[in-house]
Amino acid sequence: MTDPHRVLVLNSGSSSVKYQLLDMRDRSRLATGLVERIGEATSRLVHTPAAGQVRERTGRIADHEQALKAAARELAADGLGLDSPELAAIGHRVVHGGLRFSEPTVITDEVLTEIERLVPVAPLHNPANITGIRTAQALRPDLPQVAVFDTAFHTTIPEHAARYAIDVATADAHRIRRYGFHGTSHAYVSRRTAELLDRPVADVNVIVLHLGNGASASAVAAGRCVETSMGLTPLEGLVMGTRSGDIDPAVTFHLKRVAGMSADEIDVLLNKKSGLVGLCGDNDMREIRRRVDEGDERAALAFAIYVHRLKKYIGAYSAVLGRVDAVAFTAGIGENSAPVREAAIAGLEGFGLAVDPVRNAARSGEPRLISPEGAGVAVAVVPTDEELEIAGQTFALVHN
Ligand code: ADP
Repeated sequence: MTDPHRVLVLNSGSSSVKYQLLDMRDRSRLATGLVERIGEATSRLVHTPAAGQVRERTGRIADHEQALKAAARELAADGLGLDSPELAAIGHRVVHGGLRFSEPTVITDEVLTEIERLVPVAPLHNPANITGIRTAQALRPDLPQVAVFDTAFHTTIPEHAARYAIDVATADAHRIRRYGFHGTSHAYVSRRTAELLDRPVADVNVIVLHLGNGASASAVAAGRCVETSMGLTPLEGLVMGTRSGDIDPAVTFHLKRVAGMSADEIDVLLNKKSGLVGLCGDNDMREIRRRVDEGDERAALAFAIYVHRLKKYIGAYSAVLGRVDAVAFTAGIGENSAPVREAAIAGLEGFGLAVDPVRNAARSGEPRLISPEGAGVAVAVVPTDEELEIAGQTFALVHN
């Protein structure tokens, strides 16, 4: 029999579980799936085997345990059961690792307790991640389970960039600082960008723009993250699908005092009803571009605000890095929206940045350059793959 070579990656949200089973011998995907609306009558499972038809099932899935069992049944039906000796480990995406976890970590009781201790700084995410871990442990208690933290890549950010300029005692008492998120993606994309340039990671400074529904920028110097735009929570930084990104913090107490809103209401306003959706009612960039092309002024303003913020971060991170070798666009919008890439780079010739229109318009799932031949600074589209990165980190830890 061959050594265990499969890794199951689990991304457990509050009402959803995404899973992927990978074969680490060739890093191929054996199956992917999603269980959503857990706990509702209309739960749905979509399972996509590498070979074969997509299968969809609807009907109530009560909780995460049922969700994982349902996923396990689908995998078993493909001959990929989780009881297989070929399964080497389960890798979990864990959103918040605080300052304690700078590396992927085999989950012990002590590690789980630490992840629980971080719930106050990640109240939406860590509880779901913990539920996912416990459920997977119950299913395969004998198997190594590894936590891969969204914050880990950012633990190298120097103190002067991570600390907010507020009273130190208050900040420390409540663990208030910049943690940053999307770290797995920033790590993967910055490394892949160096590969694309055919240069060692240690020689390359990259600005990574992860533009999905959530969005963040990072400055990566010689493979180490030195700055990122998300902060204590994912709210800070770029304009996102439904999040405001940077605003004057006084807006929050102004809303409390003047509009009588509660902390929870302001939280919902800034996280769920702001950003592109707040500005123009849509958060899908395809729809926004369609409206812009039809002359819709609200959509045009939302697009302009989105791009203006991106430019500010490119400029700021150019200054932080001192020398920029590449700007890499990734995630749903970064990989697919040529207009966003074009507009974000337009006017930055003084920084050595330019986009070639033909290269920018080409579609491909591969990492590629979109800057003109011989440009001073590379502009690239580098598709992210957080699941592959989680699987790779997990396998590296358990396979020796
Ligand atoms: P998430 O943060 O949910 O993981 P993704 O990285 O999948 O997000 O990005 C989702 C977003 O990508 C969508 O909200 C949409 O705005 C954008 N998007 C996806 N495909 C395209 C496309 N072809 N053109 C422009 N934007 C796109």
